Amino acid sequence: MTFQYAPAPESTAIVNINSSNDLFINGEFTPGHGNPFKTINPATEEVLAEIAHANEEDVNSAVMAARKAYDKTWSKMSGRDRGKYLFRIARLIQERSRELAVLETLDNGKPIRESRDVDIPIAAAHFFYHAGWADKLEFAGYGDNPRPLGVVAQVIPWNFPLLMLAWKIAPALATGNTVVLKPAETTSLTALLFAEICQQADLPPGVVNIITGAGETGRMLVEHPDVNKVAFTGSTAVGQAIQRQIAGTHKRLTLELGGKAANIVFDDAPIDQAVEGIVNGIFFNQGHVCCAGSRLLLQESIAEQTIDSLKRRLVTLRLGDPLDKNTDIGAINSREQLDRIIDLTKSGEDEGAQRWSPDCVIPQKGFWFAPTVFTNVTQAHRIAREEIFGPVLSVLTFRTPDEAIEKANNTAYGLSAGIWTEKGSRILAMANKVRAGVVWANTFNRFDPTSPFGGYKESGFGREGGVQGLGAYLTSEETS
Ligand code: NAD
Repeated sequence: MTFQYAPAPESTAIVNINSSNDLFINGEFTPGHGNPFKTINPATEEVLAEIAHANEEDVNSAVMAARKAYDKTWSKMSGRDRGKYLFRIARLIQERSRELAVLETLDNGKPIRESRDVDIPIAAAHFFYHAGWADKLEFAGYGDNPRPLGVVAQVIPWNFPLLMLAWKIAPALATGNTVVLKPAETTSLTALLFAEICQQADLPPGVVNIITGAGETGRMLVEHPDVNKVAFTGSTAVGQAIQRQIAGTHKRLTLELGGKAANIVFDDAPIDQAVEGIVNGIFFNQGHVCCAGSRLLLQESIAEQTIDSLKRRLVTLRLGDPLDKNTDIGAINSREQLDRIIDLTKSGEDEGAQRWSPDCVIPQKGFWFAPTVFTNVTQAHRIAREEIFGPVLSVLTFRTPDEAIEKANNTAYGLSAGIWTEKGSRILAMANKVRAGVVWANTFNRFDPTSPFGGYKESGFGREGGVQGLGAYLTSEETS
């Protein structure tokens, strides 16, 4: 007997979405000078709001405001006082967490269960963690008198809008830098609500500036001559373009880019637990996760059994209204992303891989993609090489640990990996040989502000989080 779930929608009454939204510069909401654009709910295609578009003049004003705040206020403030602002912001994120979670789900399409239980609590945790560092920077291992860099330009993607903002802004402020941040064009709303939180926290004007717009706005921001550091999270193609754009300047750069992680399951792993880890690895956030376990490497002797268990588990996943508290798979963030997923999965079939999805009802409106598993995948297939950034798993097999390592490392990326085995010694041996910035053992997609995150190869460079992440925003040199 199967129990049916009654609908359990989260109310949207807590959120008040402005029909038009301004830029946040120098502590004030100010109109942009570009043509405003619309942001939609990807689950319904309904327009949620109009968003200001920052042009060159607006980018200049935001960088100027950040420079003034850096020179006059923020770099002169004691770490202890900066920490108080960060604690205040962290508490306000907690206080307004339901509002933030609902808004994130409306604008992004992710299940409310995830925005409520993952995105928003970890965003608050990043501010708490970095608030604690603000007055202890001389003990962080970056010299006796570590100094901030100045004005930081930060550009973020749409998959974890508020969480990526927190990963960027919290360490920058804790270390004494001021910020101009540009959210992704499809998910600006929680960044603008965060701007309100900055006002509520009485953050001095200009310490945080939020400018909305598309790629061109991001390009103008990172190219601005008065920016000292660029922190970018997004696609490898744009990351490479930014690296070329700022080559030869004094600007420091960190890049958090794409991934194609191997999730490696050995024959001694607890299979039921591993199946949960596989599901969490690739179907969490519709697979819009840079470190998603998108390549499943199964030891040959357990491959068939594991695929059967996985399919049984996938039949129970619920796809649909992201605001329903029982939903596991929400909407794809945009039509553009959906088209990319469709194109790559079609290439999987054309190249001879075997496609499977559970039966599920796809809503009439909005952007949706059923959880999909490809077997008979070879390393040459596009679906084994390119980042799909959707709920699509490619399954490969291996016989020996050496073969698993060779296959895991046979990628242009190097962001994350998972290892499932009973043997601690095997975990350590594998973790040393897999070229990935983050390696999870008998778990997947765990994030904590104390733990550094970042990649190798085309997944970028620099670390965010932990004591290592502070280094990206500090120098031991005297800055002007
Ligand atoms: P994207 O590169 O298209 O866009 C990211 C951001 O860059 C957006 O705000 C966009 O407006 C801006 N942008 C676009 N062109 C620009 C330019 N020329 N100069 C400056 N800014 C520009 O990526 P996306 O589609 O929004 O996000 C998906 C990608 O992000 C995936 O590849 C994913 O793996 C990656 N990602 C990586 C991490 C990580 O920590 N490594 C985390 C989340 C997402």
